Parts: sequence; structure tokens; C-alpha cells
Amino acid sequence: MATTAGRLRGDACDKDWIWEREVETATPDEVQHLSGAAWERQYRRLREASPFYARKWRDAGVGTTFVGLTDVSNLPFTTKQELKQALDEDPPFGSNLCVSPDQVKRVYQTSGTSGSPSVLALTRGDMESWTTMGTRTYYATGIHEHSTVLTTFGAGPFVAGHTHFVLLRIGTRSVPVAPGDTERVIFGFRAGLADTLLSTASFAQYVANLLEKSDADPGALALTHVVTGGEPGGGIPAIRDHIQRVLGVTVTEVMGIGDIAPSLFGECPHQQGMHFCGAGHVWTELIDPDTRAPMEIETGAVGELVYTTLTREAMPIVRFLGGDIVRIEGTSCECGRTSYRQRVLGRRDDMFIVRGVNVYPTAILAVVGDFRPRVTGRARVVRTGDATSIEPPIPVEVEITERHESDVALVAQIESAIHSRLMFRSKVELVPESDFGESGYKTKLTVRK
Ligand SMILES: [Zn+2]
Repeated sequence: MATTAGRLRGDACDKDWIWEREVETATPDEVQHLSGAAWERQYRRLREASPFYARKWRDAGVGTTFVGLTDVSNLPFTTKQELKQALDEDPPFGSNLCVSPDQVKRVYQTSGTSGSPSVLALTRGDMESWTTMGTRTYYATGIHEHSTVLTTFGAGPFVAGHTHFVLLRIGTRSVPVAPGDTERVIFGFRAGLADTLLSTASFAQYVANLLEKSDADPGALALTHVVTGGEPGGGIPAIRDHIQRVLGVTVTEVMGIGDIAPSLFGECPHQQGMHFCGAGHVWTELIDPDTRAPMEIETGAVGELVYTTLTREAMPIVRFLGGDIVRIEGTSCECGRTSYRQRVLGRRDDMFIVRGVNVYPTAILAVVGDFRPRVTGRARVVRTGDATSIEPPIPVEVEITERHESDVALVAQIESAIHSRLMFRSKVELVPESDFGESGYKTKLTVRK
């Protein structure tokens, strides 16, 4: 049966397309109530069982009286480095393990901040709440029981492997392929095994570039839907539109946070940003990226998201600084979901300042993408030293396809587009595909030299 992007939209917007209607269409007061009750239990667990938080809160001068969810901003933030230290001081699961080790039933690894990886332990209950949030997330993107999904997320070591449980719960047909195995991905779609691709935005872009260059007719593939995750690309118009146009698909994106939940935000086919899908399991706050003062989650607000687990058994986390700077796109949606929608502007670590203005490399991707097919769509900022504030011209490396290596006009054209759209001067260097580094998984947006 022929399907098109339009069909996905129609399908996904059919009446019964919210997984957990009671929670996902709840009023803010109802969500607050649900979350408050879960937080009381989480708080008690932390007080009784976490040496890490006992010490942390004592050091921060937090008293022993109960701190309600509405006052959670009185508790100190938790950083990635602190979680790593907690692990190192009492291996293998650390001083924040709140259950006995025999209750740990699954262990993922997250990329460490420096050197060795970090470990994330889950109980059966933790896995179930991840599956619940993940199911809401992927269902929101338009992946339903009738979907046939080719996924390039490995079973491990990273938390994205949990997606396999989610697809099982939704009841899709699953076609697992190893990350980066382009040949089998293309075979899978040619053979009609799947109509949906689950991958990083970089990989989807890579596949689109590959098919665009080849003689193959992408329209002959059964593919109708691409769900991107793991990096912001799927929400950047220049990248999204290219994938949609070349592959004839609808692109929606998902997002998770390694230490909190692998799938926490899912974009519905209205394509207006990713809905928060963690109600009752995760509490989010928005803070000012510079002052860290609490901000209202309202349309147009730009800030950093902070996460508190509400139902985590093995390793509860309070006020985790996730490092993602987001823009709140809205607090209601035609789909009926009442959770806020957001789009990621970039990672805090990738941000730099040019003449007092905050810039994320994703903004450069949005400009560079318009130069296809002379460029591949990948680009990165070159940083030297640790200073956040940099003087223009900003060094930018842009990946180009081999046949455009001698495109002398291209450098000046990209520099001029960056200048007119982003208001700063850049120094563009064209880098051929063979030198830009591994394609297909995630693209590092900043390179330090
Ligand atoms: Zn929606």
C-alpha cells in the first residue's frame, strides 16, 4: 500500500492517538498534584537511602523538614561531575544507590565528562517508568501499532537501547540494524521491511545525501516517516526540510537526557516542537542560563532545563543540570496534549558569545544547510582556548561533497550568509567528506584545536 507523508499526518491525528490520555491531556493543576504525590515518596527515599544527597543537602544547609515540589528550587542543583564522583567513591553503583545491588536489573553507560564512562543502574520499576515515558514519547511522534520501524539504536551501552522495549510496548514491527550500517538500512527500506526510520539526525541526513547522489529513486522506498533523536538536527528547518524533500517523509524528533530518561520529549506530526512526555515521573524547571534563576515555562521563554526524577528507585536525581538550552514553543497543541513544547537551541557547552550575543552552533547549521547540494549539511565551530567570548571572525569548518572541492565562490557566499543572518563575521574553511570525520552517527558541533 502506498503511503505518503500526508498519510502519516492523517493517521497520527486520528481520534485515538494519545497513549495515556488521562495524563497527557491533564490540566497543569492535575499534573502538579500527581507529581507532588510522587515527589513526597521520592523525597522520603532520598532521605532514608542516599548517602550522596544526605551529605550534599547537609553541606548546602538544607534543613530536615520536607521540601515540597513547589519549593524544589530551594534544593541545590546536581551536576554530571557530582554524579560521577558519587560513582567513583563507592563503585560500582556509587553513593547515590538507594536500593540493594541485587535489585539492580539493568545497567547502561553514559558518556563520561572526562575519561571513563558513567554508569546508570535501573530497577525493574525504573525500567517500567522509562518504558512509560518512552511510549508516550514515540506514540506522540506518530509511531503506532501499525508502524514498521527500522531502528539504528544499539541495545547498549547507551540508554537509547531502551527504545527497543518501547517499540515492543507500542506493538510496532521492529527491524533492528546496527548503528551506522547504511547498507542494511537501505536494504531494509528497499525490501519493504519498514516504513519508519529511527536514527540520529546526522544519520538520516547522511542517508538522504547518499540517495540524492545515487541514481536510486528514494520514492521507491517504503519509507514515510523519520524520527530523529540524540542531537538537535531534526528541529533545524534546513536539515529537516532536506530529509523530508529527498526521502518524501515526515520528520518528527525526540529527545532524552542520558541520566534522566532516554525518551522524554516527543514531537507530534504538527511539527511545532517536542512535547514534554514525562509527567508524573520527571519534574522539569526552566532556569536562566546565566544567573540560574527560576523562569516561568511560557511560550517564547529561552532557558536551560533542569530535571528531578519523581519515581526513580535505584538512582534518584534532584535538579539535574541537563545542559540543553531550549526555547518554549507553546503550552497547548492541536493534538490535545497539554504539556509544553520545546525546541533545543543548543548545548550550554557549545555556546559562545560574539560581541555580547549568545550563539549556538546549531544556528550556523541552519545557514549552511541552505547551500546544499554543494555542502553536505554538516558544519562545526573551531574553538581555541576556554574563553566563551570570542572575537570575530569565528572559524567555521563546513563539510563539502568531493565534487565541490574547487568551488572557490562558496567560501565567500557562506561567510556572507552567516554575516547577514547571524550578524557576525566568520572564517569558513571547506573540508571534504573524507577529512571531516565519521559520518552517520552524531555530529560534534564544536571542535577544539
Ligand atoms: Zn502536539
